[in-house]
Amino acid sequence: MNLSNKTCLVTGGSRGIGRSICLELAKSGANVIVNYFSNERAAAEVVAEIERLGKKAIKYKADVSCLEQVSTMVDDAYSEFGKIDVLVNNAGINKDGLLLRMTENHWDKVIDTNLKGIFNSSKACVKYMVKQKKGKIVNISSIVGIYGNAGQANYAAAKAGIIGFTKSLAKELGSRGITVNAVAPGFIETDMTLSLLKKNTGIEHKIPLKRVGVPEDVANAVVFLSSEKADYITGQILAIDGGLTL
Ligand code: NAP
Repeated sequence: MNLSNKTCLVTGGSRGIGRSICLELAKSGANVIVNYFSNERAAAEVVAEIERLGKKAIKYKADVSCLEQVSTMVDDAYSEFGKIDVLVNNAGINKDGLLLRMTENHWDKVIDTNLKGIFNSSKACVKYMVKQKKGKIVNISSIVGIYGNAGQANYAAAKAGIIGFTKSLAKELGSRGITVNAVAPGFIETDMTLSLLKKNTGIEHKIPLKRVGVPEDVANAVVFLSSEKADYITGQILAIDGGLTL
C-alpha cells in the first residue's frame, strides 16, 4: 500500500490499536499526527518510532469529546502539514456495567468519547477535505455495535451510532471525493481487553481462526481503506474478528 506523503490524523494514537495504525500508516509512507488524551510518554514513543521510519510525526493532546480542542488540533495540523488526507477515528473507552448499575456519568462518558468524538473530529477535518476535493475517513466501530453485548449498552450504542454515522457521511460526502468507512474489530489484545483476556475465558475456541486479534490485524485493514486501492469503497463496515460473528 502506498501512502507516500499523505497526512494522516489518528485519534487515540498513543496506545493499542491506534498506536499500531499510526505505525502501519507510517510504514506505508504517511506522515502522522498522533492524537492522545493523557498518555504523553506513550504518544512520544510512537512519534519517535515514526521518525525512525523516516517519516514526519507530531503528538497532539486533545480530548476528542471536546469540539473546541479537536478543532484547534485539526487547524494546527493543517497549518503544519498543509493538508489532511486521512482521518482515523480510533479513540475510545469502555465503562462496562449492567444497565441497572450503569451510572449516568458512565453513559455520558462513553457516548461523548466514542460517538460525539467522531462527530467532532470529522466535522473539523471535513471542511479541509471538501476544499481538497479528496479525503478518507476510517472509523473504528466494533462487532458489539452490530450484535450488542450484555453489560455494554453504552459502548454498543456508541459503536452502533458510528455505523449509522459512517453510512450517512458516506452518502453526504461521496460527491466531494471523500470516502467514509468503518472497521468493526472483534477481540483484539490491548489494554482495553486485558482484564477480560486474563480471565482465560477460552474465547479463542469460539473464533474460527482460533486466536484473538492483535492490533496489526486492524491496522492493516485501516491502511487499505486509507489508500487509493480503496477509492471505490465507501459506507462499508468491515468486521475484523477472525470469523467470530459468522
Ligand atoms: P486502548 O488500548 O485502551 O487505547 C485507547 C486509546 O484512546 C488511547 O490512545 C487513549 O489515549 C485514547 N483516548 C481515550 N480517551 C480519549 C479522549 N477522550 N480523547 C483522545 N484520545 C482518547 O484501546 P484499544 O483497544 O486500542 O481501542 C481502540 C479503539 O478500538 C476504540 O475505539 C475501541 O472501542 C475499539 N475497539 C477495540 C476492540 C478491542 O478488542 N480492543 C474491539 C473493538 C473495537 P491515552 O493513551 O492518552 O489515554
